[in-house]
Amino acid sequence: MKSLEPLIFELSVPGRKGVHVPESDVPEYELPAFLQREHLPLPELSQVDVTRHFTRLSQLNLAVDVTMYPLGSCTMKYNPRVNEDAARLSGFAALHPLQPLETVQGAIYLMHELQQYLAEIAGMDAVSLQPAAGAQGEFTGILIMRAYHAARGDHRRTKMLIPDSAHGTNPASSAMAGLTVVELPSDRRGNVDLEALRAHLDETVCGLMITNPNTFGMFEEHIEEVCRLVHEVGGLVYGDGANMNALLGIAKPGEIGFDVIHYNLHKTFSTPHGGGGPGSGPVAVKQFLADFLPGPIVRAVETEDGDTLFEWYQPPRSIGRMRAFHGNFGVLVRAYTYIRLHGEEGLRKVSQHAVLNANYIQARLKHEYPAPHGESRFCMHETCLQGKIKGAPSVVALDISKRLMDYGFHPPTNYFPLPKLVPEALLIEPTETESKETLDRFCDAMLRIAEEARTQPELLKASPHHAPLKRLDEVRAAKELVLCCVLRDE
Ligand SMILES: *Cc1c(COP(=O)(O)O)cnc(C)c1O
Repeated sequence: MKSLEPLIFELSVPGRKGVHVPESDVPEYELPAFLQREHLPLPELSQVDVTRHFTRLSQLNLAVDVTMYPLGSCTMKYNPRVNEDAARLSGFAALHPLQPLETVQGAIYLMHELQQYLAEIAGMDAVSLQPAAGAQGEFTGILIMRAYHAARGDHRRTKMLIPDSAHGTNPASSAMAGLTVVELPSDRRGNVDLEALRAHLDETVCGLMITNPNTFGMFEEHIEEVCRLVHEVGGLVYGDGANMNALLGIAKPGEIGFDVIHYNLHKTFSTPHGGGGPGSGPVAVKQFLADFLPGPIVRAVETEDGDTLFEWYQPPRSIGRMRAFHGNFGVLVRAYTYIRLHGEEGLRKVSQHAVLNANYIQARLKHEYPAPHGESRFCMHETCLQGKIKGAPSVVALDISKRLMDYGFHPPTNYFPLPKLVPEALLIEPTETESKETLDRFCDAMLRIAEEARTQPELLKASPHHAPLKRLDEVRAAKELVLCCVLRDE
């Protein structure tokens, strides 16, 4: 049972100690003046105070190891513990990135295999494991598209077409790469509006950037036609692969018509994420773009005595490095382990169950929570509902999400897709790792909340009731960054 004592942060007592520092057995050394501080009010605490404080803080977290975490577009699946065992093997964890090649053959063999698995799963030809996150993968892919056009002497292509349902990182990455973003509207079924697409197609199109399934949780019904139209005017098609959890072993972006995609390994292939990293966003491309990939990439070479060795390789027209060293290697080990653990059939089951679970929720909830696109269609791995409950006009999506915390669930994604597309959006992604019992408890809670919204809306407005802090300003910390601590006695 959790402690019922209030959470107190000021626990310091002058003179209290948590560790015993032995007498110094080395000569004293005068610190440089800029490192010296007269008053450094470090907290003074015993070990037990520190242990309890942080353990209690961790218990306040609605984490995926504690409860269902249906945060749409984030794929908060259970992270198998065997991944952690593999990533902690000293042969992986204790390597130095500058070690001689012959001493790290096992590690780069793993990277080589992972490159091949990711190419196979996406139906692509070549992969770079460098990018450190999904957004950096996007930026990488866009730089590759630009480099390809530039290498052909085609300098007119300055436009990136992006559906209005795209993740916010898509227009941001395109703008960072110096492109002009053109927003494409969606049609009533949640697909890209083909007429709007046609209207923007000309020789200034660098490419189209699209997520499939899109952020309404819907499969783009005309995706092959969309790819064909973009290719017809010489543009390339970029796939934001963050939603690959819906497609593993079922559909390959490369066969559908995509030229470049990035993966979110930390989402689809299970690394704990959500606190800001580390992530991994490998980029996979068709053969005609392989020379532009950021290196170093691993390749296999045959030695004279018939052995296979693995070595680094910089593609001839590479856009360069995206980061120091070789990507977030620990995440690569976890993704590799996850893929080997599941195998081809297992990965297909992952996606089938992810889609089944989302549809189960959609079917159980849509009579209370409108499903603008799900009314007439099955969803993929996530369902986009609306926090608009009949008979409860004052209740909004945020109230529903906060009340869900009282029932012990992490809230779904709120207000994404954007309110202009889906007012009061609740994007729910259960993932494949939730059991039917948990899905039922979640749906039961959502249905009870809908009833509460009609009978006692003030209960929702005042929620969460069991959290130590109530409604936080979720953006202030990002908008008013304070990166250094202000000492109390200043
Ligand atoms: C999560 C996500 C991203 C960004 O990935 P990061 O690893 O957080 O940078 C991009 N697109 C979509 C659709 C996503 O869900």
